[in-house]
Amino acid sequence: GGAAGMGDKDGLIGVGIVFQPTEDGTLYVKKLKEGEPAQRCGLIRPGDCLCEINGRDVFRQPVDMVKDLIMGPPGTTVRLGFHRGTDPRAKLIQVALQRNRPGEQMVGVGVVFRSDNTGALYVRMLQDGGPAQLSGEVRVGDCIVEVDGVDVYRKPISTFTSMVLGPPGTVVMFGLRRQDTLMVHRVMLRRNAPIATSDALANDSQMAVYDGNIKLRRQLEAAKEEHQRLQGVLVEKQRQLKEAERLYEHGASGMGGQMNEEAQRLKTFAHWPHNDTTHPGVTPTVLAADGFHFAPTAQDPDMVICFFCDVQLGDWERADDAKAVHRKLSPNCPLCIGIPCGNKAIVKGASSKLDAGASAQQRLEDVLMRKALLLQTATALEGALDDARRQIGEAVQARRRIQAEAQAI
Ligand SMILES: [Zn+2]
Repeated sequence: GGAAGMGDKDGLIGVGIVFQPTEDGTLYVKKLKEGEPAQRCGLIRPGDCLCEINGRDVFRQPVDMVKDLIMGPPGTTVRLGFHRGTDPRAKLIQVALQRNRPGEQMVGVGVVFRSDNTGALYVRMLQDGGPAQLSGEVRVGDCIVEVDGVDVYRKPISTFTSMVLGPPGTVVMFGLRRQDTLMVHRVMLRRNAPIATSDALANDSQMAVYDGNIKLRRQLEAAKEEHQRLQGVLVEKQRQLKEAERLYEHGASGMGGQMNEEAQRLKTFAHWPHNDTTHPGVTPTVLAADGFHFAPTAQDPDMVICFFCDVQLGDWERADDAKAVHRKLSPNCPLCIGIPCGNKAIVKGASSKLDAGASAQQRLEDVLMRKALLLQTATALEGALDDARRQIGEAVQARRRIQAEAQAI
């Protein structure tokens, strides 16, 4: 068949991908060899289309050329870019793979190097918990001049990398020059298994991919938090809407008993059990003015009820303040908020006894006004609800986008 495996050739090895070329020269991943780097990294799938090697466009390039680019000395790295599926806008899947034989994973000592414009190599960072960091002998900014006694000053990074990497448990000796001193500081380090292969031998471009991943993960976390916050807002808006609906229903049907008239409410307090002096916050005047009428029961001999919100309060003590309790237990009651709701307060200095016809007319107008106000509130809340839903939709989309990007790197 046309399958092209990447096997050993002149001591060079690949990363364990078997490619299937099509008639137009496109190279697809046919299968991944068990236990080899491509399979171990977990990011490549059969059917992926090879597009880039080390940043170079290799789409529909000859198999031999591709093979030469992928193969290299054991322990060195190669960066591959794949397209998945048929969507041309889909993001390139990029992986950095270390060329290893199965079961022969080469490891470093947890140092990330960078080269300056002269080709000299410097310690850029130390992997957390890696051998170099644990030794305490290697510092960020050190210039590396020797590996196992061999001069590597300004040598190609691939040569250097293959010298640093080795089987886990083996030892490597670095010669480091620190700042302006000419003295070479030598340190022995034991290689162990790195946290992630790509981290252990990350060069600058791999480092960028790593940084990008962390950034995307943070964005993802932020999007999740925003999503949760908006869901909280939605729940609160729904509750407010429900409450407004309940009050509206009640307002539309509960205008019976004339308890909307303060004068009528005041009359109910004829046998109020408390003294105005000892209980100044719960006098009949205060209670009636705040919407309450007296409705004693055997268990609650001092119970009062708000004509609008139906809240039932009782068990009054000397220091109690009816208005404050009303606001605390029924914060959406229009009597607490101070919006018109058909309450007819006693007008000081005017006749408290209204003409019956005018009173009925007035009540009707009050009901209509109340209905209009509640509808207005309900409409506003529904608008806010739509906004919250839209914001959640956007947050979910942003999260999906970020997730897709995070997977692609
Ligand atoms: Zn009330």
